[in-house]
Amino acid sequence: MSELILERLFKPVIREIQNLSKEGRELKITPGTIGITTLIRCPQQAKLRLLYPEMKPDTLEIDDGYLHEKITKQAILNVYPKNTLIEPAVPENPIEVENVLIQGHPDVVIEGKKAIIAIEIKCMNFLPGYRLPSQHEKFIYGEDAKRLIIPEQYIIQARAQKYLLSLKADKQVIQYLFIKALIKINGRMKKYYVIRQVEDALREEEIRFYARKHATQSSPIWDWECAYCTFNQEGLCEKAVKPAPRLLLPETLPEDVRNAIERLQELRREMKDLESYLKKALYGKKVIITKDGKEREIGWVAREVARWDVEGIIKKLGIKSAQYLMVNWRRTRQLEEALREETESLREMQTVIDFKI
Ligand code: SF4
Repeated sequence: MSELILERLFKPVIREIQNLSKEGRELKITPGTIGITTLIRCPQQAKLRLLYPEMKPDTLEIDDGYLHEKITKQAILNVYPKNTLIEPAVPENPIEVENVLIQGHPDVVIEGKKAIIAIEIKCMNFLPGYRLPSQHEKFIYGEDAKRLIIPEQYIIQARAQKYLLSLKADKQVIQYLFIKALIKINGRMKKYYVIRQVEDALREEEIRFYARKHATQSSPIWDWECAYCTFNQEGLCEKAVKPAPRLLLPETLPEDVRNAIERLQELRREMKDLESYLKKALYGKKVIITKDGKEREIGWVAREVARWDVEGIIKKLGIKSAQYLMVNWRRTRQLEEALREETESLREMQTVIDFKI
């Protein structure tokens, strides 16, 4: 089947999966209020969402998350049809904190006789953990779930929902995170449901902190936000920041992260040994190999390198040259166009032979 037919056949199917995953997701947001997800995320994102309503994060992980959420909500409704509310507005009237109107929408709320049970539903690619016992059915809970490293923003979100639910509740509020994730136990990756109880509600001063940040600042709350932000990827945000690296002690890292670092170092050492062996074995030779359907040369491969006469370029282009001197090789064509027939006199081509693998 040609690529064109395959594209025509599957593209609409993929689009439909996306539509189905998003179907029924529209929340009834009270105008002028913000939800918990917005409250604990970069305030600049909320402003840009108003400016560019068409910009929506679009990844398979998000589709998978929506689908998991949808089916889980339906399953809870089927099992507890009488007392279950899906994404109710909590509290009924938004609260005002630091001039910000806040109203949450917990994924699921089950009203019991003695307690209110709230559930936040999540789906993750991989959830690292440590010292997990090997015997598990399909779900991990209790003390074992505490040994999984759940992203902090999920915990904060659940604690914030618990805070809002507790404001008007006349019963105890029990808050859970219900996560579907790939987990590695005894070297084997498997999907599990994780049920993690979130004990403490957010404290009032914490809610105030997030509300104040939302009202007055434009910088991200989490270190990783800019790296995953659609507005950054599309070059629409001037406030994007690269987080300054923080110094951590290796022993404070989760076991999985430490194992991954060790394994990578081992692989690097192996790669170095193999490369120096191949440098000798292929000395003065090159081979064409096929990788991912493409042919490429490996071994001792010649390539053309341009050495530019920078002073000559400045003389020729004057002040305009500054924009080229910052540029890397990807702008070579524009530089050649600007220099026109003088290109060759200002450039010396050399052939260098490197080892490539
Ligand atoms: S790029 Fe960073 S600062 Fe800008 S909206 Fe996204 S998260 Fe916020």
